[in-house]
Amino acid sequence: MRNIKEEEKANLIMSLRSMGIISYEVLSAIENTPREIFIPKHLSHYAYENRALPIGFNQTISQPYIVALMTEKLSLRPDDIVLEIGTGSGYQTAIISKLVRKVYTIERINPLLVAAKSCFKKLRLTNIVSKIDDGFLGWSNMSPFDKIIITCSLSTVHEDLLYQLNVGGKCIAPIRKNSGKQLLKCITISNKRDDDYWEEICEVKFVPLIRNN
Ligand code: SAH
Repeated sequence: MRNIKEEEKANLIMSLRSMGIISYEVLSAIENTPREIFIPKHLSHYAYENRALPIGFNQTISQPYIVALMTEKLSLRPDDIVLEIGTGSGYQTAIISKLVRKVYTIERINPLLVAAKSCFKKLRLTNIVSKIDDGFLGWSNMSPFDKIIITCSLSTVHEDLLYQLNVGGKCIAPIRKNSGKQLLKCITISNKRDDDYWEEICEVKFVPLIRNN
């Protein structure tokens, strides 16, 4: 008999497909990553439901559909070097790390990063480099990156951050509008860098990016 967890996982993958996620690589990275280790034990029975969950410190692990969508929209390649701002539980980091060469990730809350790092170790993910910091201005020492993913909401993405991307690179981020609503947007960096535009993907709900002063 298949165990319940495997069945729940299979249902989640099917529902991600029905919601429009088509990348085999993204779906199998999700299938092969145990989400339950990234969430508090008392919530682990919700691990394969398509919903965001609290991870403490007023932060949340994103909904699997949004993790899948953001990962798919980045069109990751095996050689890519990726910067993530907002490690949180580390779940999104883990998914990306299975699809690319290296992931740099920045988190501002130390206990969250400590927990995330222990998950990376458990899963033997050795291509993730992390630091505690305010990630608003990226990680210029380690640039250039091929892709940047921001998993906390902000009203604008600073130009300096976009200059840490290679030409052809992409940045995906939840952008807050004046109305308070957030739109998931993605930009692809062109040669000239002045006619780049943000593709609007869908409405989302992320915790805010907080600056260290
Ligand atoms: N992708 C994560 C989502 C984490 S929630 C997951 O699936 O678990 C967003 C995270 O961004 C929080 O952990 C929050 O502490 C972090 N964050 C907020 N402002 C930040 C900043 N300026 N720099 C780095 N991380 C930040």
